[in-house]
Amino acid sequence: MPRSVLVSGGCGFLGSHLVDRLLRREDVETLVVVDNLWTGSRDNIAHVSDQRLSLRIADAESFTTSQHFDEIIHLASPASPVWYMREPARTIKANIGGALNLLSLLRPGGRFCFASTSEVYGDPLMSPQPESYRGSVDCTGPRASYDESKRCTEALLFEEQRVSGLDVRVVRLFNTYGPRTRIDDGRAVSNFVCQALTTGILTVHGDGSQSRSWGYVDDIVDGLERFFWRDSISHRAPLNIGNNREVSVLEIAKFVCSLVAGSRIEHRAPIAQDPTNRCPDLTLARQILPGWEATTSYQEGIRRTFEWYRRRIVTGDRSAAS
Ligand code: UDP
Repeated sequence: MPRSVLVSGGCGFLGSHLVDRLLRREDVETLVVVDNLWTGSRDNIAHVSDQRLSLRIADAESFTTSQHFDEIIHLASPASPVWYMREPARTIKANIGGALNLLSLLRPGGRFCFASTSEVYGDPLMSPQPESYRGSVDCTGPRASYDESKRCTEALLFEEQRVSGLDVRVVRLFNTYGPRTRIDDGRAVSNFVCQALTTGILTVHGDGSQSRSWGYVDDIVDGLERFFWRDSISHRAPLNIGNNREVSVLEIAKFVCSLVAGSRIEHRAPIAQDPTNRCPDLTLARQILPGWEATTSYQEGIRRTFEWYRRRIVTGDRSAAS
């Protein structure tokens, strides 16, 4: 059966990788990418010459069309704290307003997929975090526009599922890195790599003992593909997707330093309410997505990411393909 698919945020880091995967599907007849190019970039899909793809420059919360879609994948949102803290209202609109608007474009019986976040666990009091953990979140804290709008969008979708049987697929993504993150994105891996290639000074907030579980984008998109593409799925709740090897920020910075002679670490003031740790419990993911595992080591993933940025920064190559 030919399918019509809409991806909001399809010019973004994660979205553009997902667009590449969607276009490998023969049943995808039309693929509409809705992106306002706030944090995304046309460069990320410039390598695609597939006639099925069309790009609509619009906000997810106000995009209109007479078309209805079999599958909607809602990714439109900044994911970097630097970006979402700068424009909290816009972040909330993209997530919640985007979901409300895009739901109206779903054909009856269609599937709605959403990228939520491990930020819903806040600064977690248990580790690793299973999906059942309700989190330690501050709705008036500096991260609230992001984590609360992701939480509220989850609430909206699961309530729609409850009252109308909507086919909802929600993933909670842990820190994801790789090619196609903006140079000025501000998240740890891309920042460290770009800093190593330019100023040579890597800025670590606080002592760097805070940890994250760093997932290489190809592994994460493999997980999304297995969860979002599946025709029928009995799992009716959020699903953690990530790499469960927890590594400190300092270790990541030191590894990046080792790739560029003369680069060094400088410690900066800690960031307010910076979560101290983050690690997915993948028990459910292993049951629901048999055979899936994020296997790329951070050393290998960072080397690949480094090479992509090196081509852009040192040789000026702007192609997104990795
Ligand atoms: N971080 C850092 N230096 C940077 C960027 C980030 O030390 O230049 C730290 C940040 O304080 C946090 C971790 O790296 O502890 C991950 O930050 P990121 O913005 O990548 O993602 P988060 O998990 O905070 O959303």
